[in-house]
Amino acid sequence: MNDMKWESYVRKVVPYVPGEQPRESDVIKLNTNENPYPPAPGVKAVTDDFDVSRMRLYPDPEASVLVEAIAERYGLKPSQIFVGVGSDDVISMAFMTFFGSDKPILFPDITYSFYDVWADVHRIPYRQMPLKSDFTIDPGDYMGENGGIIFPNPNAPTGVLESVEMIEGIVKANPDSVVMIDEAYIDFAGENASCLPLIGKYDNLLVIQTYSKSRSMAGMRIGFAMGSEKLIKYMNDVKFSVNSYTMNTVTQLCGAESMKDEEYFRSSVGRIVATRERSKERLTGLGFTFPDSKSNFIFAKPGKKPAKEIFTELKRRRIYVRYWDKPVIGDYLRISIGTDDEMNRLFAALEEIING
Ligand SMILES: *Cc1c(COP(=O)(O)O)cnc(C)c1O
Repeated sequence: MNDMKWESYVRKVVPYVPGEQPRESDVIKLNTNENPYPPAPGVKAVTDDFDVSRMRLYPDPEASVLVEAIAERYGLKPSQIFVGVGSDDVISMAFMTFFGSDKPILFPDITYSFYDVWADVHRIPYRQMPLKSDFTIDPGDYMGENGGIIFPNPNAPTGVLESVEMIEGIVKANPDSVVMIDEAYIDFAGENASCLPLIGKYDNLLVIQTYSKSRSMAGMRIGFAMGSEKLIKYMNDVKFSVNSYTMNTVTQLCGAESMKDEEYFRSSVGRIVATRERSKERLTGLGFTFPDSKSNFIFAKPGKKPAKEIFTELKRRRIYVRYWDKPVIGDYLRISIGTDDEMNRLFAALEEIING
């Protein structure tokens, strides 16, 4: 037997664990923050009319139709937009591009659990800053020396929204670092919650958004970053050094169509926000407590039975929510907002489990 010396040269990493995607179709799926409503009607028209002979050709490496539609929607120049295969791809690319210092990058201790994985795979040192007991960020934690900063706003899995003023303070205090705000859930947070207006003022601020939640297209994989032309140019240089053709033709066309339908977008986001607000009342009535959510999920702590037990009981009834068996967050369930009907069935099951 050889001694497999090659194994000592392997880039060993502990991968990110996504939420379960059960194969059965009769489940109520409230575990990965997907949107319960379909994408904009124009997206279906694109796929219905797509000429499959176009598949012979490579896609547009610049994804111009998509980039232009995003630029138009947000009042930016196409040179201020970077698109990727989901924001996971965009963020990973941004880590590779901007976090090359030997100082640690900073992010919260309770946050999207992919950040530490990307830091590890890209060999970036990092430090996790503890959130306050109400799950808010202490901006003072992000004022010292660092190799970069990232956090979601609203945060995941807590749903807590930080103010643009507070974030501007962090960006201003860190002219020597790139600050990334992961706005995966910002469309559920109401008007003027986004840090996007700040990108014209700070060339070190990158704002990242996704089609996966508010635009009902998690399966298509579209994410985008917005920032100064300088930041976007550096990201594209790295992207075109790894793989030019990341996003396929159908996806580019569907993404552009979705961006153009503002009315559908607003009404679908509005329905989810209305269901979320109603769900907060129902959960409170069932004895749950939670930080106020501005996203499409609620991070709720049951008052009467352990979260883990409720998670298991719900799953037995084919209702999937997200649970992490870890310190602090192990007391909570993260419940994505589904349709009113799905939420009613969840509340009926919770009633039975908790009070039955
Ligand atoms: C869902 C999510 C993402 C990833 O979204 P994709 O665009 O589907 O890759 C990134 N950041 C946070 C905080 C998320 O919750």
